[in-house]
Amino acid sequence: MPSLVLVNPKRRLSARYEIGILSFAFALATTVFYLDTFTDIHSALATLYVITLLLSAETLTERGTLLMTAVCIVLSILSYAAAHGTDADLAAILRLTVAVAAISITCALIIRNHRARLDLIKFNAALQSSEERYRTIFEQSRVALWERDYSEVRASLMRLKSQGVVDLRAYARDNPDFIADCIARIPTVAANAAALEVLGNVSAQNAGSMRRYIAHDDETFLDLMVAIFDNQSYFEGKGTIITSDGTTKLVLLTVGFPVDVSNFNRVIVGMFDITERELAQKALFEAQAELALASRAATVGALSASLAHELNQPLGAIVVNAQTLQRWLDRDPPDLAAVSRSAERIARDSQRASDIIRSTRSMLSERAPVLEAMSLANLVNETQALMQSELSKNRITFETSEAPAITNVTAIRIELQQVLINLFTNAIQAMAATPEELRRISVTIEPAGGQGIRVGVLDTGPGLSPEVLKNLFKPFCTTKKTGLGMGLAICRSMLEARGGSLTASNHPGGGALFEMIVPMEAVHE
Ligand code: ADP
Repeated sequence: MPSLVLVNPKRRLSARYEIGILSFAFALATTVFYLDTFTDIHSALATLYVITLLLSAETLTERGTLLMTAVCIVLSILSYAAAHGTDADLAAILRLTVAVAAISITCALIIRNHRARLDLIKFNAALQSSEERYRTIFEQSRVALWERDYSEVRASLMRLKSQGVVDLRAYARDNPDFIADCIARIPTVAANAAALEVLGNVSAQNAGSMRRYIAHDDETFLDLMVAIFDNQSYFEGKGTIITSDGTTKLVLLTVGFPVDVSNFNRVIVGMFDITERELAQKALFEAQAELALASRAATVGALSASLAHELNQPLGAIVVNAQTLQRWLDRDPPDLAAVSRSAERIARDSQRASDIIRSTRSMLSERAPVLEAMSLANLVNETQALMQSELSKNRITFETSEAPAITNVTAIRIELQQVLINLFTNAIQAMAATPEELRRISVTIEPAGGQGIRVGVLDTGPGLSPEVLKNLFKPFCTTKKTGLGMGLAICRSMLEARGGSLTASNHPGGGALFEMIVPMEAVHE
């Protein structure tokens, strides 16, 4: 049916109304045609077809309007032909021309208007579906989301700025009501299901204001206000909220501020509950610290033979000097100069013994480690001295070579010493089956190409089997009967935490080679 094509289906009004309009337009066209053809009215009567066109524009499609225009123009020409035949009448021709022009312009305007309306409808539909999509994402997201109106609070912050406030934190300190006032100025437009759940399964009405959920000592809200005050485009911070049942939750807050200030009335706030994650991380840190301490205790245990030997020497000397001192005192008269010399020696040896004990105690203490500048060659020598009795007992040759111009590193002495003790102990144990004359630990100290200083520890043991090589830095990897398999794993994580590294390989000439890189400046945790 042509009418289906000519009548606009999208904008169909009620069928009766449509038929009425079209019938009226048709009657009007007929009347105009009649008056124009059969009466002597000398005016551009044909321009009245414009009304017909305008009336039917609402109901017709673009094609229908074009057809209607063509009909109106043909009717105008027919009227002219019927009234004037072939006699040229300038006034009548001008009237016809005016009428045809009016009809055509009206047609063009109707079509333009029609197209603009269609575009508007399309645009509205796109907007609506985008809004629906946004709503679906908002509602169904597992992330807690709020839509909040920040326009009032922003205006108030900007007012403060224009009044000369520069440091908002100081202003907040001086004005105790500031935070509560800001919170009151932020109404919630909407909150999704996840948001209601984070607050402790509250109803949508109770999620309106954040006042009762923000912990009193929480600084995050002020940080958020500062971000708006400073015109930041984004805010992210960790905060504490108190849920409806009184439990405390740690949350990560993210807010993206709109570029266009007029859109501050619809700001999306995202909140992630990170309580579990933070607790797990805290437990992990505690476990790591305990493990590090336990492994240090184990390291000290490994040193006990050396320590006993080290302590024996000054303690023995103290006993001998005390006996000598006693003899000088028993003389008549007492030889006070000799007494004083013996006392000096006793004091010196006591100091040595106490130094040894102190360095052992410091390995076990929980005190926060201190970064200090040190020479790695000195540290290697000190550690060798500490382990000398173990090395001697196992008939191991120890050699150190240092490349020229090696600078000091800033590191934590006790940590590096623990790594060295671990590497030396492993090397000593690995060489148990090596012929005595071949047992050797070679330490090299050289620059590591801009990354820091490389310390290599090479032994003449059997080296590392492919299986061990693959797993040796993993916890509990051990081939020893009484081994824990934690030493190297802890050494590596300790070095990595400070920006260094620890690697192992088999030396082409035989034996295992462990290489640690110590950065010039350690990372301070
Ligand atoms: P543990 O000494 O308690 O076994 P480590 O983590 O210090 O723990 O060492 C893990 C394993 O790596 C050792 O059991 C051993 O098999 C191997 N290993 C370590 N150092 C050497 C070495 N210098 N030569 C050969 N094997 C080694």
